[in-house]
Amino acid sequence: MFNALIVDKDEDGKTHAGVKQIGLDDLPQADVTVAVEYSTVNYKDGLCLSPNGGGLVRHYPHVPGIDFAGTVETSDDDRYKPGDKVVLTGWRVGEAHWGGYSQKARVKADWLVPLPEGLSPKQAMAVGTAGLTAMLSVMALEDHGLRDKHGPVLVTGAAGGVGSVATAILAHLGYEVAGVTGRPETEDYLRGLGASQIVARAELAEAIKRPMESETWAGCVDAVGGEMLARVLGQMKYGCSVAAVGLAGGAALPTTVIPFLLRGVNLLGIDSVMQPYENRLRAWNRVVTDLPMDKLEAMVQPATLADLPKLGADILKGQVKGRVVVDVN
Ligand code: NDP
Repeated sequence: MFNALIVDKDEDGKTHAGVKQIGLDDLPQADVTVAVEYSTVNYKDGLCLSPNGGGLVRHYPHVPGIDFAGTVETSDDDRYKPGDKVVLTGWRVGEAHWGGYSQKARVKADWLVPLPEGLSPKQAMAVGTAGLTAMLSVMALEDHGLRDKHGPVLVTGAAGGVGSVATAILAHLGYEVAGVTGRPETEDYLRGLGASQIVARAELAEAIKRPMESETWAGCVDAVGGEMLARVLGQMKYGCSVAAVGLAGGAALPTTVIPFLLRGVNLLGIDSVMQPYENRLRAWNRVVTDLPMDKLEAMVQPATLADLPKLGADILKGQVKGRVVVDVN
């Protein structure tokens, strides 16, 4: 028997979460069983832990946790053998399939990635989906011509998980980073990660009044969406790109096509969930080289399985700073 955070629904349709003991036979059928060491808390975990599962969880009882890292215990697939260190992000694990908030998980071999050399399971979960997505965003901006001589790169939702990792990576690569935050008290933290400019959320919170403003940003990693993304599109320099990652501020995009037509601005969609294996490997390897581990350490707060219901509610309110690492044991 082992511990897992089980979310169940009672007869009145109310969900409740608690740490319970389950057995291997309770785990879903799949080809690799992993002894989980660490998991984490992403915005989507907050949704999965919320009363209606954020519309993402279909069946109860459910074990959330969209990411985990650990050691293979048994494998019916030739690519993995007992003792291999592995990491999992995405593929709707923790939403449609039981996830990482458990001391053991059983998943498809196709969904796993060997733990990159140079990262411990704990560091891999400090990165997690949020950090991997930040890396994918930086890679997409580079693929579309981002160069450090072009000017400052904006990171929205900077004190959150995606934003913190994006800030640290971009600063390490030599970019001038401007972080947008609604929490002025995080200024020292963001400067410590490498931001050289702090932009108050309120400055970008209002709806666009004109389709274009002065050309300011050479790139943007946007975790917020909504009005803020609309404003940022109108402030991009000629030919520059925004990586659209998240919707912490809203899913709508109340803008015009003018920045695309008159300034050649690019809006790059970033998806981590279905990201092909080769690009996942490329991103994890870039994390090892481009994310300083002391900066990663500065982002982390530790947690246990029992802390998760509260942390899930906190992240949906934008109250989690940086990254949470959950020691499931
Ligand atoms: P976090 O909650 O850690 O970060 C989001 C940050 O956005 C907050 O910390 C806050 O930063 C800011 N924020 C919150 N609410 C608002 C608001 N109403 N208006 C403006 N800013 C706000 O979440 P994650 O970093 O885990 O995820 C960020 C977003 O990216 C989420 O929407 C998530 O779903 C998405 N995502 C998408 C992925 C993909 O594959 N496309 C993968 C991973 C995440 P501050 O306090 O500094 O202002």
